[in-house]
Amino acid sequence: MEDRFDLVITDVRLRDRSGERLQVAVRDGRIAAITPDRPRGRIELDGGGNLLSASFVDAHLHLCKVYTLPMIGDEAIRRYTSGAMEQAGAAIALASAVKEQYAETWIYENARRALLEGLGHGVTHVQAFVDTDTRARLEAVRAILRLRDELRGTVHVRIVAFPQDGVLRDPGAETHVREALAMGADVVGGIPWIERTDTEAQEHTDRMFRLAREFDRDVAFLADDAGDPRLRTTEMLARAALREGWVGRVTACHARAMRLYPEPYVRELVDLARRAGMAFVTDPHTGPLHLRFAELLDAGLPVALGQDDIADAYYPYGQHSMLEVAFVASHIVGTPTFAQMEMLFEMITTLGARVMRLGDYGVAVGRAAHLVVLRGDTVHEALRRHAPPRYVISHGRLVAESREDIHLHI
Ligand SMILES: [Zn+2]
Repeated sequence: MEDRFDLVITDVRLRDRSGERLQVAVRDGRIAAITPDRPRGRIELDGGGNLLSASFVDAHLHLCKVYTLPMIGDEAIRRYTSGAMEQAGAAIALASAVKEQYAETWIYENARRALLEGLGHGVTHVQAFVDTDTRARLEAVRAILRLRDELRGTVHVRIVAFPQDGVLRDPGAETHVREALAMGADVVGGIPWIERTDTEAQEHTDRMFRLAREFDRDVAFLADDAGDPRLRTTEMLARAALREGWVGRVTACHARAMRLYPEPYVRELVDLARRAGMAFVTDPHTGPLHLRFAELLDAGLPVALGQDDIADAYYPYGQHSMLEVAFVASHIVGTPTFAQMEMLFEMITTLGARVMRLGDYGVAVGRAAHLVVLRGDTVHEALRRHAPPRYVISHGRLVAESREDIHLHI
């Protein structure tokens, strides 16, 4: 019996294997075989002819704010989605009022619920922005560090210590970010565009890179998150990466202002980003504009989709389903051709993995078995339904399954 695999998923289709029906076998948490044969497993799951893919990556989620909309009300959403810079700032101010009530206990419960809701939808890797400032203090960081460690081996959480209100506008935030990094936060966050002047935005950037150097951490900024073409912190981040030797270690999230830049500047910025090995995360569903992902992808840069927000002051919906995020994005970013669907699917899988710098990811023999069996036999069908996967496998273990429970009485 020792030739049995731990787990065999039968009768699945793979994206790059043109409809061929295959079996995927897992041993010791890894993909051990992809075969037309019928290997035996101690656990066997019937894939039903559906598409099997690597599980989903959410490269940008404000995990400490999930489900806080009822605490805040919807005024911030109206302002944030207006597109104007001063309104975006006002939205952040309104939203941050909730942080007076920040406490490790309820943040832990909310964040856990969001990660498990995501797991049911096949999300096994999450880059979590966690507010780390003088109002949030370290309450959210503590909650999510605890959660990261508890869910290790099931959901991979990468924590970005994020000074949401700036570091010059919020003196003391930097000290909290340093403490968060010392406690084990994975990535240095930043939001330089929120500062009062370009000089202060540069100072913000420089200070965050000093922390990145001190703790040897990657950097992820929330860049240029308003409809003002004068915002230039995406460029600032790219230049800092080049200057500090942080090539391939920086991510710009949002960067909505890029949509409004004049064409010559877009080309200049894309080239700069390419030299800086920069990654990007976009979230077209949560704001009025989105970055120039086609130009960035053409330059070979990873651009991922992020859930960004779940029922908080910036976005009222979201169930931590990356298929849903891609489905909604498909209506916003252009013509929903099959090619566009494939690209969006990449943005919630392999491109997300590149943003999070996951080396051990993908449907290939030898890779860690983080897999989903979707509803539908093509990316088009999976997106059309954007339903929870039939099966979710993390580290070679079945961690979630769902059933179709509509019964027609006709
Ligand atoms: Zn965001």
